[in-house]
Amino acid sequence: MKVLIVSPEVSPYAKTGGLADVTGAMPKELEKLGTEVKIMMPDYSIIDRDKFRIKRVGSDFNVQVGNETKSGKLSKCKMGRKIEVFFIGNEEYFNRDGFYGDKTGDYHDNLQRFTFFCRSVLEVLKLIDWKPDVIHCHDWQTGLVPAYIKTAYKDDSFYQGISTVFTIHNLAHQGLFPHELYYVIGLGWEEFVFDKIEYYGKFSLIKAGIIYSDIITTVSKTYSREIQTKEFGFGMEGVLKWRSDDLYGIINGIDYTIWSPGKDNLIEKKYNLKTIKDKPVNKNKLLEVSGLSVDKENQTPVIGMIARLAEQKGLDLIEECIEDLMSFEVKLIILGTGEEKYETLLESICEKYPEKISLSLKFDENLAHLIYAGSDMFLMPSKFEPCGLGQLISLKYGTVPIVHKTGGLADTIVEFDSSDMKGNGFVFESYLSSELMSAIERALNLYKDKKAWQKLISNCMKSDFSWKASCKKYLELYEK
Ligand code: ADP
Repeated sequence: MKVLIVSPEVSPYAKTGGLADVTGAMPKELEKLGTEVKIMMPDYSIIDRDKFRIKRVGSDFNVQVGNETKSGKLSKCKMGRKIEVFFIGNEEYFNRDGFYGDKTGDYHDNLQRFTFFCRSVLEVLKLIDWKPDVIHCHDWQTGLVPAYIKTAYKDDSFYQGISTVFTIHNLAHQGLFPHELYYVIGLGWEEFVFDKIEYYGKFSLIKAGIIYSDIITTVSKTYSREIQTKEFGFGMEGVLKWRSDDLYGIINGIDYTIWSPGKDNLIEKKYNLKTIKDKPVNKNKLLEVSGLSVDKENQTPVIGMIARLAEQKGLDLIEECIEDLMSFEVKLIILGTGEEKYETLLESICEKYPEKISLSLKFDENLAHLIYAGSDMFLMPSKFEPCGLGQLISLKYGTVPIVHKTGGLADTIVEFDSSDMKGNGFVFESYLSSELMSAIERALNLYKDKKAWQKLISNCMKSDFSWKASCKKYLELYEK
């Protein structure tokens, strides 16, 4: 089985969120299961070429974007020993500081950028003379790949017999563009209809992925059901229901070679379940680097939060209950970047409680590892969450998740029950700040009961979300 993974971001080369973790981890597991895997992603100028030994290969190639011919450059490196990662470059499109936009919003030419990328993916396959059985595309930026295979490239024998899988990591981002720009993607007007790419007078690249791919997946069972409803479907519920026979929910895994407190070089002191007494060394280091007073006796619980600062992540609930929360003996450490309004909101909260809250408005992989290791609890009150990796990573670090019961959070976190000592976190059902606050209070109360808390930590660390089981499910779908 030959599989091409196509994604706008792949860890460790370029990451804004969980998508990169997924596309950086699953290829390695697929390879272990005997699949021949290659990866294609954009060649953003911010990628560290020296660190990853990325080299130019082949000659330049041309692709059509609207009325213009754009030239593409191909580069390559290896992930592990065997997996080839191809970087598709164009100075005009990918030589900038961000991936999809900046503080003011999305880049104005995202349609051109990802049209270029998707067309290039298909052209490069020919250039390297490698025909995969399946192309597995991730999120709206790749939605045109299945569309081109079924339309513009369908008569080219090279592409015949290639199947496509399209994975939705987040339906809130749809790649929606005005019909005046339809010429850019170069599809005929017969595709601009409601049961194809058209979307209320505009057109949508995530809809292209949903319509033209052979199989659609999303990243948890619950989210695969939720997106077929008005509440979570963002207007795509109809088309997803229509394709529900081909829609599957497969939970993401975690790359435990990167995310394990026993092997993690980015934390202050490594630990595992047997040496859990060393976890507080990380807590004090975290408090120190966060500018908060250290806690030698390990009395005050630390709540960590790492998130893209977007509406989805439940920041409105935090705003509503912050006064309540601050009346407790607790410290809150937040790491995130994103929308300006949430950065401003968090700054104002932090200014009010400088001794109890630490805020880092940046993307910082090292600090993220220390927060997972050094916090006692991990906060994820997302309004919706397709899968969520933060809660899965924190489980491995014995950092107890406090989550809203939605999407992948609902599928992975079970409320701790002190009568039978089962469960791996704290879960609130209705999206209300009072519910969030009562889940936090349950956590803070249990924290005082050291024995029960240790059992809870042990349950967390024993939860297994490795990639193996999920990749086996992907393989079944590829076979199909
Ligand atoms: P999403 O994909 O919606 O952003 P996930 O929970 O699935 O959310 O994945 C988020 C990933 O990005 C996790 O690996 C998390 O640690 C990481 N992350 C998010 N924000 C930051 C940040 N500011 N600095 C470092 N890592 C971050």
